[in-house]
Amino acid sequence: MLEIIDNADLSAHTSLRLQGRVDRLIRVHHPTELADAKRALRGAFRGLLGEGTNSVFGSHIQGSMIQIAWRGIERISPNQVRAQAGENWDELVQWSLCQELQGLENLSMIPGSVGAAPIQNIGAYGVELSQRFSELEAVHWEHHERKRFRLADCFFSYRSSIFKQLSHQGWIISQVDFQLNPQDAGDPSSVLHYAYPDLMQRFACAAPRNARELAQAVRSIRSHKLPDPNIEPNAGSFFHNPRLSNPIVMDLKARFPELPIYPDGAHHHKIPAAWMIERCGLKGQRQGDVGVSDKHALVLVNYGQASGESLLAFAQTIIQAVQQRFGLTLSIEPRVLLR
Ligand SMILES: Cc1cc2nc3c(=O)[nH]c(=O)nc-3n(C[C@H](O)[C@H](O)[C@H](O)COP(=O)(O)OP(=O)(O)OC[C@H]3O[C@@H](n4cnc5c(N)ncnc54)[C@H](O)[C@@H]3O)c2cc1C
Repeated sequence: MLEIIDNADLSAHTSLRLQGRVDRLIRVHHPTELADAKRALRGAFRGLLGEGTNSVFGSHIQGSMIQIAWRGIERISPNQVRAQAGENWDELVQWSLCQELQGLENLSMIPGSVGAAPIQNIGAYGVELSQRFSELEAVHWEHHERKRFRLADCFFSYRSSIFKQLSHQGWIISQVDFQLNPQDAGDPSSVLHYAYPDLMQRFACAAPRNARELAQAVRSIRSHKLPDPNIEPNAGSFFHNPRLSNPIVMDLKARFPELPIYPDGAHHHKIPAAWMIERCGLKGQRQGDVGVSDKHALVLVNYGQASGESLLAFAQTIIQAVQQRFGLTLSIEPRVLLR
C-alpha cells in the first residue's frame, strides 16, 4: 500500500534535519506500486528519497517526492547476496557478517539505504561499493522498463556512477547484488583490507582475525572521528576531496609543503578537503544555526533550526575561503534540491 503524506516535514526524513517541506511525499513499499505512485503525484515528480542522509533540501519543494521503502535481504548463492533498495545499508553489512560473509566490513556504519549506495559508489576505509558489486536491477520512472546493470554498465568512480548523469536519472534502483567471500574459504587475512592508515595503526601488532573484528575496528574509529548525526545532524562529508593531476599537486605541494597528498592512479593525487578547510581556520566555526563540526572539518552541522538555504550560504563562504587560499574550488557532495 502506498503511503501518502501531504505537506511532509522533510526534517524528519533527512539526517541534516533542515527545516523544509515537500508538497507530497509518497512512500512506496513494493516496486510494482511505482505505477500507482505516478498516478498519485501532486504536481511534478521531484526525485527519490532513500533515508535522506546525503540530501540537502530547500524550505519548500514544490511537487512530489517518492520514498523507496521496500526491504529484504537474501543469499542467492554461496557468495552472492541480494538486497532490496529500501533496506538499511548498515543492516545489510551486519547481516552479511552474521552469515559469515566478508567483504562489506570496511563499509560498516555508513548511513543510508541500499538503493542509494551505488549512486555515489559509497566508500570508506579503503574500500568502495564497486569492489563488492555484482549487478543491480532498476526500473525506469518514465517508460517502466526493467533493466539489469552489470559492473561495466555503472561507470563507478570516486563518489560517482552513471546514475548521477542526467541521462540516467530516471532509473530507480530496485535491488542490488553483491559478491562476497565465505569466511571459511581460506586465509581471512588475505582478503581483509586494513591498509588504510587508521586501520594499519589499529592492527599494527596483529592482523584482524576475521571480518567481524575489522568491522568492529571501523565502527570504533568512525564513532571517535565523526559526529553522530542523531546528536549533531549532518550529511557526512559535505565536500568531495579534490582529485588533481600530478603537476597541479606538485605545484601546490611547493607552496604548502605540509599538504597531505594521496596517490590515486598513476597520474593523479587526492587532497583532503578537510585539511584545507582546517587551514582556513574554519573547523568548529559557526554562522547562526550552521557550522563546521569541531570533530571533523569536512562535516557541516545543523545546530538548531537551519534551512537548506542557510546551510548552502555557509557552504559558499567555505568554498570561497578555500578558493582564495589554495586556488581550488570545492564541490558539494550531497544532492541539493532547493525548490
Ligand atoms: C554521518 C554520515 C556519514 C557518512 N559517511 C559516508 C561514508 O563514509 N562514505 C560514503 O560514501 N558516504 C557517506 N555518507 C553519505 C551517505 O551515507 C550515502 O551517500 C548514502 O548512500 C545515502 O543514502 P540515502 O538512502 O540516505 O540517500 P538519499 O540522501 O535519500 O539520496 C541520495 C541520492 O540517491 C538517490 N536515490 C536514493 N534511492 C535511490 C534509488 N533506489 N534508486 C535511484 N536513486 C536513488 C536520490 O535521488 C539522491 O540523488 C555519510 C552520511 C552521513 C550522514
